Amino acid sequence: MGTVAVLGSLNIDLVTTVDRHPRPGETVLGEDLTRVFGGKGANQAIAAAAMGAQVMMIGRVGDDDEGARYIERLKEFGVATDSVVVTPGHATGHALIPVSRDGENSIIVIGGANLQLTEEDLAPLDALGEGDVLLTVLEVPLPVVEAAVRRATSRGVRVVINVSPYAELAAEVLAAADPLIVNEHEARLLEESGVARSAQQYGGLSVLTTLGAEGARWKDISVPADKVSAVDTTGAGDAFCGALGAALAAGSDKRTAMEAATAAAAVAVQRRGAQPEP
Ligand code: ADP
Repeated sequence: MGTVAVLGSLNIDLVTTVDRHPRPGETVLGEDLTRVFGGKGANQAIAAAAMGAQVMMIGRVGDDDEGARYIERLKEFGVATDSVVVTPGHATGHALIPVSRDGENSIIVIGGANLQLTEEDLAPLDALGEGDVLLTVLEVPLPVVEAAVRRATSRGVRVVINVSPYAELAAEVLAAADPLIVNEHEARLLEESGVARSAQQYGGLSVLTTLGAEGARWKDISVPADKVSAVDTTGAGDAFCGALGAALAAGSDKRTAMEAATAAAAVAVQRRGAQPEP
């Protein structure tokens, strides 16, 4: 069974409920304030570990209490944290998330230590090889993501990129991913970018699109979502990606991996927050 190395963000999410979202220049009152562990990278690392995978997190936290608590949190899930760098002089990343009563959220990410990630932080990838998986998600500097993909590919490591939040990566980097995971919104942006055409010379793109309550599609394989009553879809995509990475590292074929990811995402939408409890 291979290792899943997850390169991505670690954030503290500050979540509040609002009657409606503020318009520019307006102040609205938020009800309650909850602080939860989030960040797409760490969410996916925990989701992969929850599936029984051996997981290594590559990322950065600040030299503050929140950073120290986050490292402890990852350890509770069995995620290896030797490659989570504590960054002097920087705060752990945060996300400000007002959620309206109809469940719609808006998110402001304050990158903090996540943005200090450098290519030197990628040295642990050199311990990986065939059978291992690099799972990467954005919210960290894009040149570092691109360098990681090149480094992993040269070692025969399978690369999975979740292009979220959407950003433009080099066509050659996107073409190295198998799969490239996007939700419907990101799929549209990817299509509009025209990168699929430039990726042809590198073998084309292997796109897996998640379709919310409709399930997911990876080329000719479609898997329906489990019929569940969704409580909070925050982190559904992260649960999907983490579980998919774990299944691929365990040697599952595409369909089996998608089924495992779909089942994990269905569990995630039935609980509040982006991460399970340890
Ligand atoms: P994101 O959360 O990144 O926007 P999606 O909304 O496409 O991504 O959801 C990711 C996955 O979570 C879907 O492919 C599906 O497996 C699962 N999922 C999302 N919403 C539901 C739902 N209402 N019921 C069951 N599964 C869901």
